[in-house]
Amino acid sequence: MIKISTINEAISKNEVQVLDSSIYNGHEKIFFCKDTSTNLKAIIAVHSTKLGPGLGGCRMWDYKNQNEALNDVLRLSRGMTYKASITGLNLGGGKAVIIGDSKKDKTKEMMESFGEFVDSLNGKYITAEDVGMSPSDMKDIRKKTSHVVGTPKEMGGSGDPSIVTAYGVYMGIKGSAKFRWGNDNLENKKVFIQGVGKVGGFLIDYLQNDGCEIIINDIDLEKMSEISAEKNVKIVSEKEMFKQSYDIYAPCALGATLNNKNIEALKCEIIAGAANNQLEKEGFHDVLLKKKNILYAPDFLINAGGLINVYSELKKWNKEKTLRKTENIYDTTISILKRSEKRDISTHKAALSIAKERLNK
Ligand code: NAD
Repeated sequence: MIKISTINEAISKNEVQVLDSSIYNGHEKIFFCKDTSTNLKAIIAVHSTKLGPGLGGCRMWDYKNQNEALNDVLRLSRGMTYKASITGLNLGGGKAVIIGDSKKDKTKEMMESFGEFVDSLNGKYITAEDVGMSPSDMKDIRKKTSHVVGTPKEMGGSGDPSIVTAYGVYMGIKGSAKFRWGNDNLENKKVFIQGVGKVGGFLIDYLQNDGCEIIINDIDLEKMSEISAEKNVKIVSEKEMFKQSYDIYAPCALGATLNNKNIEALKCEIIAGAANNQLEKEGFHDVLLKKKNILYAPDFLINAGGLINVYSELKKWNKEKTLRKTENIYDTTISILKRSEKRDISTHKAALSIAKERLNK
């Protein structure tokens, strides 16, 4: 039986304890979705619909426990609000997580069941792809709801957004380079890409075209060796990855890699990558990076290419317009870095202030 409950119900049953957490602050609605017939366990969080419907990908991940999943979806949905705002899109922030191993547990029936839950929210939340999901999953979800974007191109959708996300990250890297080094020529720059999935894979190509030296790491050893057989990249082990020095570190795996341990070890000038929620603790680790004179390009700004791509599906923009909008990330990155320098605040705080200004208008 499909059951949908609000956070209040879940808390009254002592399923979660999040009200004390600051990450809960400000969310409009949180929905817990369970369908025993398809083994679906999912959480949908809608942070804000102030600028439009809460649009954000659905992530499928083998979380250690449900609180970890809840924490992830709350942080991600909040990030989407700021991402849409800073990018100038008329969208709110939402996100979903499905608890499970996408390689073993995912079925078409589970995707359809998730689609039913999304449909029951009447457009308050629009779903899309994220880690562990693909355009073909969007196709299954589409059978039950129209509130989904990123369906395959043959269905009239915008397909996999990852290449546009990678293009936006590349723009963010170039903007950061311009600010830091006075020009955006990336030739011979040493770039460490952590996580070579969909976005990380495309990012390698953009950077290699500019003459970068690429070093990669991924927990999926098979994928890592496939990529190194295909492309001219060096592999670094997990143990060694933060012992080396790089010009640029591009986190393209999951969040929270900018934590005490890694920041202490990091030897690089710029951090700019696709992963959402790279800072383990906002307001602390961004400040730590500033003190270390490492330029951090805010994740929610430079990874907005995918959101722009799915927005283009709703707005019926052509490819050219979508790429032009994504290229704006270059200028926005520079203006945020300038604001951070002028106000002597972290780059993350500078980016948040711009996003909040639009939200509060
Ligand atoms: P993906 O699942 O295709 O790739 C993620 C890769 O990271 C996988 O290869 C995985 O094995 C690897 N990984 C996971 N944990 C790791 C770890 N601890 N160390 C090293 N590698 C690890 O996902 P993706 O679509 O490429 O997205 C990458 C990141 O970018 C995610 O954080 C996602 O939320 C974010 N993002 C993606 C898009 C998009 O369009 N796909 C848009 C915006 C943000």
